[in-house]
Amino acid sequence: MPIYVKDAALAVGGAVGIASLIYVLREALVRAKTDFDKWKTELDKELGIDRIKLNKSLAFGIQTRSCDVHVAGAVKCKDLECSYGPLSFMLDIIDQAKKSVDICIYIITAQVFADAIIDAKNRGLRVRIIGDSDMSFSAQSSINTFRQLEFPVRQRMSNYIMHHKFILVDDEIVMNGSLNFTMTGALGNWENVIVSSHPEIVQPFLVEFQTLWEEFDPNNPITETDVYRHNRRTKTHDI
Ligand SMILES: [Zn+2]
Repeated sequence: MPIYVKDAALAVGGAVGIASLIYVLREALVRAKTDFDKWKTELDKELGIDRIKLNKSLAFGIQTRSCDVHVAGAVKCKDLECSYGPLSFMLDIIDQAKKSVDICIYIITAQVFADAIIDAKNRGLRVRIIGDSDMSFSAQSSINTFRQLEFPVRQRMSNYIMHHKFILVDDEIVMNGSLNFTMTGALGNWENVIVSSHPEIVQPFLVEFQTLWEEFDPNNPITETDVYRHNRRTKTHDI
């Protein structure tokens, strides 16, 4: 082999070797950063540090005007002073979910909420829904749609009302308040919703959702009694 061909081959081989080394190093760095980010997120949660810093109080029904675009049926709006703004704010948070959406809701009939939840499921996110046993079976309830789509839905036949109205997004943000997920609620009533990413606020909702999810498991053999309810409540409340 002529000497210059050998040199060229060595040069190419060397370049490929360096490129491979750079690739391997880069992959290792990306993995290390991902592991670090996960560890940092968990540590922040344990320390009660608000990583996302999304804390907002939404007022519904106080507004007296809506933008012209809504006349044509548009819902999305960045203006929190507009009647549609707070509703849009909540929908955006569901739309931006990356891992999970857990819904615990007394009444849900608004198609815009149902669509956002269905879209989250279609994006491959974990979606779980807890409803009230009476309201879940009403004709207008979106829970019927979720059941038809075979989403995980749980409710419990009970003398007690499942009156919660909260959504957990990615286990890091909670939206909770007086608002049922109805268009009347969002546009026609005086309502409030607190949106918070502060772990001290979010954590009790995570516990409450998981507690109800397990209680409402159709295979759960525990019968409902006042004593049982009392025991559960006293675990998390000073009553
Ligand atoms: Zn608007």
